[in-house]
Amino acid sequence: MDIFKLIEAAERGERLGRGEIARLLTDGEAGAREALFAAAYRVKAAEVGRKVFLRGIVEFSNLCSKDCFYCGIRRSRPGLERFRMEPGEILAAARWADENGYGSLVLQSGEVESEEFTAFVEDLLRGIKEISGGRLGVTLSLGEQGAETYRRWFDAGGDRYLLRIETSDPELYRRLHPSDHRFDRRRGCLELLRRGGWQVGTGMMIGLPGQSVESLAADVLFLRDADVDMVGMGPYIPHRETPLGAKSGEEDRAARRRRLELGLRMIALTRLTLRDVNIAAATALQALDPAGRELGLAAGANIIMPNITPTRYRDAYQLYDGKPCLDENAADCRDCLQRRVEDLGETIGFGERGDSPRFRRRRLS
Ligand code: SAM
Ligand code: SF4
Repeated sequence: MDIFKLIEAAERGERLGRGEIARLLTDGEAGAREALFAAAYRVKAAEVGRKVFLRGIVEFSNLCSKDCFYCGIRRSRPGLERFRMEPGEILAAARWADENGYGSLVLQSGEVESEEFTAFVEDLLRGIKEISGGRLGVTLSLGEQGAETYRRWFDAGGDRYLLRIETSDPELYRRLHPSDHRFDRRRGCLELLRRGGWQVGTGMMIGLPGQSVESLAADVLFLRDADVDMVGMGPYIPHRETPLGAKSGEEDRAARRRRLELGLRMIALTRLTLRDVNIAAATALQALDPAGRELGLAAGANIIMPNITPTRYRDAYQLYDGKPCLDENAADCRDCLQRRVEDLGETIGFGERGDSPRFRRRRLS
């Protein structure tokens, strides 16, 4: 089929096959990428509107019991100073987010499974709901946990949970993790979260060593079949002091551009396929291009997650090399972001939670 006809079919909502998605991820015909992004943008405008919602992200601890081969805060990274912010500091960040019109907050950390950690987060959730009068939506991104922990956090006020599957290919997943990190458990956690009433988000890293375009196309179909409410995916960026990053060596500009391009096309294809979900323009896009997040919005994303972690902790939460905004404080980020979004002709939904339209519709049906 002609590539432009294929894009039109995707815009109408026709189901694409894996081969067709793979083709759209790479096709180099003149005008095809622009047509793809324009179609995805129209679907975004129609399905979720031209409004960007903010989630202030607090990366509150780099303590992690896992050892993912790609991650800069993995357990066995040598010489990294470990921290956990005090509850008062986390609540202060939440108060700042609420007062500055961020409708939602994301709490992210390394993965810790313990009664102490469960209770710590439970108390935080109650505290956040209390200081914001229940206004702030709260997303947790705290990894794999048992059903009981998820239930306690939901009961304490958690609204959304983001757990990236990282790749939908079990064999690639196996190569990226030690043998006790299980794809099936991660997928099972997504099911637990869905059953537990959460707005569920997942996503992948894009441009991983050994990841084919067909595998990325399968990722889009995984998202469709998992029927998620939110998608948070972004380019993989090597970290020199990790097993995977050490192997890839110094990357040239062309490699970074290719990864950015794939990241943007994945957003567009996810929008064309899943339609009414929230899609985040990941910070990793900005690491590859200073305007990466805005490019993500133009390709179909509608969520931005500005980092509101106190600057003194950010150096110790470097998931990958060149993570942006290391020394920019939350207020700087807010102002520069507002200018950038308005330049695109979009508005920011200040003070709005921006729940996933798909989640709202599912609850009504
Ligand atoms: N520990 C929790 C988990 O793994 O779900 C949440 C925090 S973890 C740092 C959040 C996400 O960071 C992971 O799901 C992974 O996709 C991403 N990440 C880690 N290392 C990365 C890298 N080198 N490049 C891009 N993203 C990375
Ligand atoms: Fe820990 Fe998450 Fe990093 Fe894996 S990706 S090492 S679970 S923080």
